[in-house]
Amino acid sequence: MYKYDDLLNSIHEHILNTLIALREWLHTWSILDALGVLFLTVLGLCIYLEARNPVLTRQARVLMKSYPLNLSTFFFNDLTASLLSLSSVYYLADAVNGHGLLVGMENGPLKYILCFILLDFTMYAWHYLMHHCDVLWVLHRVHHSDPNLNVTTGLRFHFGELLLEVMVRTGFILAMGITVEFLLVTQAVMSLFILFHHTNTRLPGERYLALIFIVPRLHRAHHSTLRSEHDSNYGAVFSVWDRLFHTLREVEPEQIGIEGWDEPGFLGMVKSCILADFGWTHKMKTLPVPIRKSRE
Ligand SMILES: [Zn+2]
Ligand SMILES: [Zn+2]
Repeated sequence: MYKYDDLLNSIHEHILNTLIALREWLHTWSILDALGVLFLTVLGLCIYLEARNPVLTRQARVLMKSYPLNLSTFFFNDLTASLLSLSSVYYLADAVNGHGLLVGMENGPLKYILCFILLDFTMYAWHYLMHHCDVLWVLHRVHHSDPNLNVTTGLRFHFGELLLEVMVRTGFILAMGITVEFLLVTQAVMSLFILFHHTNTRLPGERYLALIFIVPRLHRAHHSTLRSEHDSNYGAVFSVWDRLFHTLREVEPEQIGIEGWDEPGFLGMVKSCILADFGWTHKMKTLPVPIRKSRE
């Protein structure tokens, strides 16, 4: 009898100690750590959704090419950005910060929300620019070149595009007069929406959700091979910017990707993307027509 009570007490004590340790561990977490875990959770959920209810049905073999290519691009970019310590540019901007639109506003939830909305508008304008400036399109079309649109396409970007985005966000810190934390938190939340709108799935009530947010159906049109369709729906989170500036299109594209783009693999993708526009490669004919010539 005593032994049974001892065992119960020991289990009870063990559970209590585990809970205390868990609470202490969670206390050491920053909001960015929590957002990192949330990012992986959302990624897993999106993969589950597109496996359960896909819109674009591809052969598993083709899809299996897209996942590793996009993920390796993501890890390569992430590693290079860390090695170059790119985020230190944000801290430099923070150090010289003293002016800006939100500088007089008290730190708190309202400032985070406002910052999030303004960053979303900035990224909308930047995305528009990438489609309408040939030099930027050369980099951005790497993102559009995935013919198997899926959640990992949201991680596939040319490193040059990410480098320029760091500059845009640095300008955002200076223009708003915010701290790095505000930028990193709002940016991390935005990346969850980017994963969401790249998901190859159809959701119930998506039509209504599209009134406010960029949903997978809207972003699918943005990945159409037709320029008249992919030059639309530039938003990352809210569809309101596209509605306001008449760039919203609600169509189901016939084909996804960039016409004539033979997926060259990770290194080939980056190499041919840079060289083609200077005419240094014989692969020229297999690459997309330069945007200016294809303008309708
Ligand atoms: Zn785009
Ligand atoms: Zn996209």
